[in-house]
Amino acid sequence: MSLFIDLRNELLTYLEPSQVEVIEKAFKLAEQAHEKQVRKSGEPYITHPLAVAHILSSLKMDYQSIAAAILHDVIEDTPIEKSQIIAEFGEEIANLVDGVSKLSQIEFASRAEAQAENFRKMILAMTKDIRVILVKLADRLHNMRTLHGLSSEKRRQKALETLEIYAPIAYRLGIHAIKNELEDLGFAALYPWRFHILENALNKLFRHRKEILSHIESNIRTTLEKHNLPSVAIWGRRKHIYSIYQKMQSKQLPFNEVMDVYAFRIVVDSTDTCYRVLGVVHNLYKPVPERFKDYIAIPKTNGYQSLHTTLFGPQGIPIEIQIRTMDMDNVAEQGVAAHWLYKTGPNEAQLRARGWLKGLMELQNTTGSSLEFIENVKIDLFPEEVYVFTPKGDILELPQGATPVDFAYAVHSDIGNSCIAAKIDKRLSPLSTILANGQTLEIITAPGAQPNPAWLNFVATSKARSHIKNYLKDLKRSESIHFGQRLLQQTLKALKQPLEKIPDPIFKKTLDHFGYKSPEDLFAAIGLGNEMVALVALQLTGQPKESRKKRRSLLIKGTEGIVVKFANCCGPIPGDPIVGIFDRGHGLIIHQKNCPKGQIPSQPEHYLPLKWEEIVEGEFKTDIKVEVRSQRGILAQLTNAINLEDANIEDISIEERDGNYYVINLIITVRDRHQLAQVFKHIRSIKNVSKLSRKIG
Ligand code: MN
Repeated sequence: MSLFIDLRNELLTYLEPSQVEVIEKAFKLAEQAHEKQVRKSGEPYITHPLAVAHILSSLKMDYQSIAAAILHDVIEDTPIEKSQIIAEFGEEIANLVDGVSKLSQIEFASRAEAQAENFRKMILAMTKDIRVILVKLADRLHNMRTLHGLSSEKRRQKALETLEIYAPIAYRLGIHAIKNELEDLGFAALYPWRFHILENALNKLFRHRKEILSHIESNIRTTLEKHNLPSVAIWGRRKHIYSIYQKMQSKQLPFNEVMDVYAFRIVVDSTDTCYRVLGVVHNLYKPVPERFKDYIAIPKTNGYQSLHTTLFGPQGIPIEIQIRTMDMDNVAEQGVAAHWLYKTGPNEAQLRARGWLKGLMELQNTTGSSLEFIENVKIDLFPEEVYVFTPKGDILELPQGATPVDFAYAVHSDIGNSCIAAKIDKRLSPLSTILANGQTLEIITAPGAQPNPAWLNFVATSKARSHIKNYLKDLKRSESIHFGQRLLQQTLKALKQPLEKIPDPIFKKTLDHFGYKSPEDLFAAIGLGNEMVALVALQLTGQPKESRKKRRSLLIKGTEGIVVKFANCCGPIPGDPIVGIFDRGHGLIIHQKNCPKGQIPSQPEHYLPLKWEEIVEGEFKTDIKVEVRSQRGILAQLTNAINLEDANIEDISIEERDGNYYVINLIITVRDRHQLAQVFKHIRSIKNVSKLSRKIG
């Protein structure tokens, strides 16, 4: 019972005594039920549900959620049944407990399938009562805090699940406080060594910058006071480690080039003051261009509101500033859980969550397997958003990478199904164009038009994807045959090799290659979007012919019999994310995914997302650029560093920047990214190397 006292004191600060009594009763039942059980760490089991209740009480959740948190494992792990909980605590609490236990009860054939199905259940439970997921998130958070009792295999598995599913859900519901902690715990468990190194690097950095950061803080404070803009609070904090790691990964930056690892938050009394404070800080330090974001006027998908800007602080230290009201700050930390008890109506995060869940329900009705569902939801869960306008000036929010087709489906599925072209800022543009913030879109439709399977190569939203697939699935077989044949004809025509002129033996070989019995089967597969028309066309034409002598082992999945060439502009090497752009007369040109020339062309059927084979042998050329301060023997050191890893130098050229600085361009051959990373490591360790990068485009 003494275990309960801390929690009770905390609960009494915001709940009625009668409500706390219910929770106390739940505690007694749970304590008894779990009596002989211990956690893997050796502690009595009851410490776990109690800790989960603590997490929820810090979010000021209602007494039903707290009682459910305390009881959350009794149905699954003890003889107590749901009926007993109904009898003692009523339907509401019993349903919450039941909902939480159901999420982890089901077992399935494969792990992927099990997770997908669990995930689907979770979404369904969430749509019934969102408190179920809040209890589950708190449960997961405490389990992640106490992972040490588990085997390393189990730890990895939990960590992965946390990063892939729980943290994104916490983000989507706007509960940043939980999301950030889940991410750091997951990252630390999955990559302990990387976490350790980054943590040390950060600590070191802040010891160096301590004085300057407190100088900036007091400078902001006094300046605001001078302008009569008293702030409620200013505090500096470093960003959480996982977000820094993600930035390094996605932008391929070394630690010392990651900007803004530190952020100041300024909390003020009103929205109006936010903008005035912004003006003042921009006057104080120079803002970094194009880093200002107004999430107050246009909140994020999860309801997050704040002004963001980055400033050049003293000594060129970049400083991110977040400016928001107290209310916005509360929602930013707690999202859906903020103001749970207030009767003031739903907050922005709660409204957004409702809309999201409603969309998921629709998705659930149109997708087949749970794996398909989870793939679709994953697309929805994390992307950064772009904001575009309808011709009437309404704002639509789409994920990064969205195209006019996504826009059309976002407006209405009928518009998506019948769109044939798009005007972006009044200019006719291909349907595969990637949208940018602030553009105005007009979709041109035609009666009788239908979705093109090639769109599946580039759409970015789950809504568009599932509608296109659904439409294609519903086509009658005769229609899909006709449709697929037409698509293939068009593509072959572009290759100047009409379908009629393909010799029969070659057609037969292609059928065998893809595993179809008749031409109709192949056409239907194209029409349904199950085969990529560009790949089929390439197989049929086989152009240019690969010489028989030069049979190499396969490097890239799905490219049997097709000539592949590696683009010189970006020099992709195994391990790089890649795409293929299919070029008449040259076969398939492989680019890095982020190469400017590897973007979706105006004929999207010429674009193929690709994957390397698991085992790739060979040497691959890639360009690197090294900036050095002039120094005797630097070239020898450089070639030495490259030779150390058995990589070869194919070409070298040197440009002089200004008497003191040189840029050295090298073409080297390596086996894969891993080897290149080793080469980079050696080069970085050379004194006077100031910058090192791969050349793309
Ligand atoms: Mn639990």
